[in-house]
Amino acid sequence: MPNWLDRLIQPLSLPVIVLAMTFLGVPYLGSFPAAVGEVFATGPYWAALIALVLAIAFNRSRVALYTLTLVGGFFIFRYFGTEAPLWQFVVYGLTPVNLAIICCYRERGLFTLYGFLRLIIIGTQAGIIAWLATHNAHLVDAWLQFNLNDLVMQGLQLMDNTSVITLPEDGHAATIATWSIGLRAMLAPLTLLEFALLGLAGLTIIVTSWRFYTPVAFALFGAAAGYYLLILTRPETLLVDAYMLASLALICIGLLRDSHDMAYRDDLTSLPQRRAFNEQLLAVGQHYSLAMLDIDHFKKFNDTHGHDVGDQVLQMVASQINRVRGGGKAFRYGGEEFAVVFNGKNKADSAYSLEHVRKSIAGYAMVIREHERIDATDEQLAKNSRQRGSYRKANKKVHVTISIGVAEHNLRGQTPEDVLKLADEALYKAKKNGRNQIVIAE
Ligand code: GH3
Ligand code: MG
Ligand code: MG
Repeated sequence: MPNWLDRLIQPLSLPVIVLAMTFLGVPYLGSFPAAVGEVFATGPYWAALIALVLAIAFNRSRVALYTLTLVGGFFIFRYFGTEAPLWQFVVYGLTPVNLAIICCYRERGLFTLYGFLRLIIIGTQAGIIAWLATHNAHLVDAWLQFNLNDLVMQGLQLMDNTSVITLPEDGHAATIATWSIGLRAMLAPLTLLEFALLGLAGLTIIVTSWRFYTPVAFALFGAAAGYYLLILTRPETLLVDAYMLASLALICIGLLRDSHDMAYRDDLTSLPQRRAFNEQLLAVGQHYSLAMLDIDHFKKFNDTHGHDVGDQVLQMVASQINRVRGGGKAFRYGGEEFAVVFNGKNKADSAYSLEHVRKSIAGYAMVIREHERIDATDEQLAKNSRQRGSYRKANKKVHVTISIGVAEHNLRGQTPEDVLKLADEALYKAKKNGRNQIVIAE
């Protein structure tokens, strides 16, 4: 599968499974014991409470505010309906927009000035709505009478009257007609403003979740998807509760996944780190290979180019190692050392895949920008730049190489630690033989 497709599909799997199960499963709930129905009646509130508690415990203002906003939208939809223009506006316009804005925030903590300010903004909106609903309902009920339905109807009539396109009365046309009626039924009551806000907010939520690309970002996306499904399809009560539960559960799962990721993933390179590696070793089968990789002369590289450039190179090397073929799973073992686990592969096959990685790193010319002092004695350079003694920005290409040691599990009673030791010894040999090479353990 191409990399971009994988990046697109992977985060979608959980929300799609959860929401599809909700959509498909709830009609059968009637045949379950009554207790199951009760889970759906109270479940959303427990899930909301858990999401809030987790958000507070992890100091996440985005998730806390998102949960509050989402619950507000659900609650109004569930108990007040969308008959009144005010409630319709809150459900279809205001709530999605607030969700989208929260998605755009950078996380800045809950118990901070930013966190409190954001909480106040959401709280103020809730206050205004409550005040409008109790005191001035007639004012807002006059809200934008121009109905989207009118516009759609006019458009369709226009199409009917112009005989340019005449759809044949076959099965396809009938299907299209059914879909278009369904689509119109979904959107018909919305005002133009609500329609625009709903669309814009949805787009923003999609874009931001892929930009952040974290479990929490996708949880927010999944929760919004549940909310959108709910308000567009307007199902019966039991399904409303189920969608609420699904959305809020997705948020809880996202938060837990995120904190799990933080403990297991290395910040600099985004590779899973030592702890994840040790866990992986517990799960290997009878046939596997391990590789240890180490950047050559990295201490000197840091001394020459600085620690920042060193970090950039580490990121580059990590991403190249992460692309290893042949089913290898890459880890940052520590410092500038990496490990790759090949489950079900012998050492020769693993070495073949790793050789590609070694070559691609050795052939990678990384461009770095650095401030370079122009040497005042370098006449030619100084004349060209007319900036004697000053600084200029220079693009510079740097190279690094890596050495690799590979070993496989081939003896009974051999532990992963034994295999790792063999790989480490092979790596040591690769260094001694002149670096930038692979050595396969005997
Ligand atoms: P060799 O070819 O024998 O491996 O030589 P080396 O200089 O790479 O030796 P060694 O593996 O002992 O050096 C490790 C160096 O890696 C030490 C430290 O400066 C650098 N290093 C470790 N972690 C980081 C990091 O996170 N960022 C940067 N920039 N440098 C790191
Ligand atoms: Mg090294
Ligand atoms: Mg090292």
